[in-house]
Amino acid sequence: MINLDHAATTPVRAEVLEAMLPFFREYAGNPSGLYADGRAARQAIDNARNAVAQAVGARPQEVTFTSGGTESDNWALFGVTGAKGKRHVVTSSIEHHAVLNACRALEAHGVEVTFLPVDVQGRVNPQDVAGAIRPDTALVSVMLANNEVGTLQPVREICEIAHRYGIPVHTDAVQAAGHIPVDMNALGVDLLSLSAHKFGGPKGIGALVVRKGICLEPLLFGGAQERGMRPGTENVPAIVGMGRALEMAASELPKSMDTVMRLRDELLEGIRAVVPGVRVNGSMEHRLPGNLHVSFPNAHTDALLMRLDLEGIAASAGSACAAGARERSHVLRAMGAARDGEADLRLTLGMDNTRSDIERTVDALRRILAG
Ligand code: PLP
Repeated sequence: MINLDHAATTPVRAEVLEAMLPFFREYAGNPSGLYADGRAARQAIDNARNAVAQAVGARPQEVTFTSGGTESDNWALFGVTGAKGKRHVVTSSIEHHAVLNACRALEAHGVEVTFLPVDVQGRVNPQDVAGAIRPDTALVSVMLANNEVGTLQPVREICEIAHRYGIPVHTDAVQAAGHIPVDMNALGVDLLSLSAHKFGGPKGIGALVVRKGICLEPLLFGGAQERGMRPGTENVPAIVGMGRALEMAASELPKSMDTVMRLRDELLEGIRAVVPGVRVNGSMEHRLPGNLHVSFPNAHTDALLMRLDLEGIAASAGSACAAGARERSHVLRAMGAARDGEADLRLTLGMDNTRSDIERTVDALRRILAG
C-alpha cells in the first residue's frame, strides 16, 4: 500500500517499538511501586518527559502525559476556563473537532466562544484576535498547523497580541510537532497539545505542555499521578514510545522537511500536468511540508477515494464522513473554497514515501480522473 495519509496517523517506527517492548515485559511494574521494576518504569517516564520537554522548548515539569491530542485539547479549554472563572474563549473556525466540539460543550456550560474567520488561504488574521478579546476572555486557542489543508497559523503574532491583554494562548500542535520545528519559547504559547501517533509513536498517548504559572483545573480526578493533574496509572510503554518518537523526529529536522517537501512538490507538479483543472487549497507558503490538499472539478470525493484504494493508495478527503454522507469540510467552507461538484483530496506524505509512490499516484489519478 502507498500511504499518503500520514496526517491521519503514522506507523510506529521500528526503533520506537524496540524502546517500548521492555516496558511490556521486563519492566512491567507500576511506576508508583517502590520495587525495582516500578522504579525502572518511573525512570523511563522521567526520561520520556525530558525528551518531550526538550523537543518543544519546555521544562520537564511542564509536560503532562494524556491519552492523546483530543484529551489535551479538551483539557486546555476546560482546564483554563474552569480555573479562571471567566466566560469567554477565542478560537478559529478551522480547528480540529477536538477543539471545536470542546468549545461547543463549553457553550452548553454557558461559556461564550468567538470562532474567528480565516482568509482564502485558511489563515487567521491576528488583528481579528485583538478585535475579539474581551475583559472576560479566559483563553485564546488557535492551532499551529491545520490537519486538512496544512496551513500554518501566525501563532507567534497571536500570542503577542493576547499577552498584551494578559490572556494565555493554547495551540494545538498535533499536526506540527515532529514535522516542523516547534519551540514554545519562539512561539510564546502557554499551552501546547501533542499526540504521539502523528510522529511515529503509538496511538492513545499525548501530552499537554503547560507553562509554569498558568492556572489549570484537572479534567480527571483520582490518584496522585502526574502531580495529581492527570490521574490514572501511567501507560508506560506508550509514554516511552512517545519520548523516543519525538526525540527522533525532532533530530531529523530540517532534513525530513526538505525530503517530504520535495516529494510533495513533485506530486503537485505531476497532478497539474495530468489534471488541468486542479485547484490547490491552502497557502503554499505557510504550509506543512508533507501536506497537499487539492480539489478536482466534476468529480466525486468518495468515488475518487475508493478508486485510489483499489489502486493500493491510501488517501483521505481531510473531512469526516458520517454514514456514507460526506459533509463538505468545515475548513474548506470557512476558506470559501467549497465549490459544488468537486472532489477533495488530502495527500499527506511521510519519510517512508518514495519517488515511485509519487509516480504511481499521479498515474492513478490520471486514469481515474480521465473518466
Ligand atoms: N488535533 C489535531 C490537529 C489532529 O489532527 C488530531 C488528530 O487527528 C487531534 C487533535 C486529535 O488527536 P488524537 O487522535 O491523538 O486524539
